[in-house]
Amino acid sequence: MNLVLFGPPGSGKGTQAERLRNRWKLRHISTGDLLREAVANQSELGKKVESVLKSGQLVSDDIILGLMRDAILAVKKDTLLLGWLLDGFPRTVGQAKGLDALLGETGTRIDAIIVLDASRDSVIERLSGRRTCTQCKTVYHVAHNPSKIAGVCDKCGGSVVQREDDRPETIAKRLDVYEAQTRPILAHYEGRVPMHVIDGDLPVDDVTTEIERIVGQAAA
Ligand code: ADP
Ligand code: AMP
Repeated sequence: MNLVLFGPPGSGKGTQAERLRNRWKLRHISTGDLLREAVANQSELGKKVESVLKSGQLVSDDIILGLMRDAILAVKKDTLLLGWLLDGFPRTVGQAKGLDALLGETGTRIDAIIVLDASRDSVIERLSGRRTCTQCKTVYHVAHNPSKIAGVCDKCGGSVVQREDDRPETIAKRLDVYEAQTRPILAHYEGRVPMHVIDGDLPVDDVTTEIERIVGQAAA
């Protein structure tokens, strides 16, 4: 089962992926998480992409497709996994075409694209209030889903902070980039891959119920 979670930053992709991955034995592949980890480790890749992440622009397709090739091939070799759950990729038409080529090469396909269609107002509110654990990456929200002790992760005790790109100026930039470069990908997949649009403004549990229904049907 190979799924793509699609939607603007803040639409709830990471939150839903966290809930789905164990139940369906899927590897959650978030390009944003991979890039932030590289920045935290100050690897060659991390040094190269740090300023791009800070600005809210996109990292080049070549770099992203290299990362994804490794990630997807690793899932194929792991016999305990039933597939992958992509979050934040593909983000340009070039990446979607690169993914097509990789899937052709490995004899895999996307079973469903799940689009979390959230309004600009709600994603701005969510991203402004999002807080993330620097250690285990658990995501909180200052109003809807705060950690029990402010700044401390409930799960691992790590520090819970605001992502650098979740500040107001960068949020607006990221949403503009989504409209200009990422939303057009949907036309690339129209009629070729089953696509399911969910109202991403619904409460977290309602979105999960809807996704579970879709994945259940796709798996049957
Ligand atoms: P994405 O991975 O798409 O960028 P996240 O899953 O990190 O989005 O969610 C962004 C913020 O919104 C987080 O603070 C999260 O707790 C909150 N959130 C996610 N889904 C919902 C929802 N359905 N309703 C309200 N808040 C949500
Ligand atoms: P995210 O965690 O998905 O919101 O991504 C955070 C940032 O990482 C983005 O604003 C981009 O700078 C970069 N990024 C993540 N995924 C991609 C991708 N598929 N293509 C290009 N840049 C990406």
